[in-house]
Amino acid sequence: MSETKHNWTKEEILNIYNKPLMELLYEAATVHRKHHDPNTVQVSTLLSIKTGGCPEDCGYCPQAARYHTNIEGNDLMSVQQVKAQALRAKSSGSSRVCMGAAWRNVKDGEEFDQVLEMVRTINKLDMEVCCTLGMITENQAKRLAEAGLYAYNHNLDSSEEYYKEVISTRGFEDRLETIDNVRKTNVTVCSGGIIGMGEKIEDRAGMLVALATLNPQPESVPINALVAVEGTPLEDQEPVSIWEMIRMVATTRIVMPETQVRLSAGRTEMTREGQAMCFFAGANSIFAGDKLLTTPNPDVNEDMKMFELLGLNPQKPFIKKMQPKTVEASESQLHPLGEKPKWTRPEHTIERNEAAKQKAKAVK
Ligand code: SF4
Repeated sequence: MSETKHNWTKEEILNIYNKPLMELLYEAATVHRKHHDPNTVQVSTLLSIKTGGCPEDCGYCPQAARYHTNIEGNDLMSVQQVKAQALRAKSSGSSRVCMGAAWRNVKDGEEFDQVLEMVRTINKLDMEVCCTLGMITENQAKRLAEAGLYAYNHNLDSSEEYYKEVISTRGFEDRLETIDNVRKTNVTVCSGGIIGMGEKIEDRAGMLVALATLNPQPESVPINALVAVEGTPLEDQEPVSIWEMIRMVATTRIVMPETQVRLSAGRTEMTREGQAMCFFAGANSIFAGDKLLTTPNPDVNEDMKMFELLGLNPQKPFIKKMQPKTVEASESQLHPLGEKPKWTRPEHTIERNEAAKQKAKAVK
């Protein structure tokens, strides 16, 4: 029987987060060693398969169409392009490919069929395949599972309270519903958040409560440090300090002992020493490649040098769970249902989002 605790409270998590640092690190490293190989770190590659033009208003995101940023938008990549990039990622040590599309939610049709084909293609390369495509229904989750998807990413971003200060085009409950839909399949859940968006430490703890009280807990939790991009509502946020990142990673490790904790966006601002502390505190995955969707990321060769220096080994695929089977499109028992789910659209006013939108209008 799993010993994992699922009834965490905000106070308990805050007590952990605020411990004297040496005590926090020792406790996190002890939990980490009990559940994971401390010298193994998974290398994942994030591919933006459809960039920009997103209808949502996430305050941190340069891909939102309503803000003026200098990213170049792209239509959905072809299956061959994705295959070529996945092969390149595999040859540089990645065991997982995460494909991201700047969509509010998945719509049944040609483009989704193309994504399903990408999932089949990467699965056949013996790599773990993850997708992050926005909100999905149960039937869409089942079709992804049938194609051989290993994980679905859907971040909670922050606490339920602070979520409303960052995004107005959908509700926190929509996030939970999508995670619930994924849980109706054998696809694993990847869900985490971003620190440095102006939230309080209580919000960081609140987000960890929301994740750690899920049963089962997400198999993967990315912890991102905000990369403030010019033109987005959060462009003026001060970067989070490495100490906050270390505390967040360590706390995540303690409250979700079996989870793969992913050191995600913001690594370009971290020294090797800082990243080493995060690995010691329980981070056991990084994203490789010079870009994380649209924001900068360390070069993969630099990462491999860091691994050598620290004596770390890239994790092989399918260590935690078996490789899912792939059902070909021609043999699929599942069909698009053409559903029109009613995802919420609160549309409350977030002043800084509104200001960034007006600024973009003036520029365009
Ligand atoms: S984070 Fe995702 S949903 Fe939000 S604006 Fe960016 S691409 Fe769209």
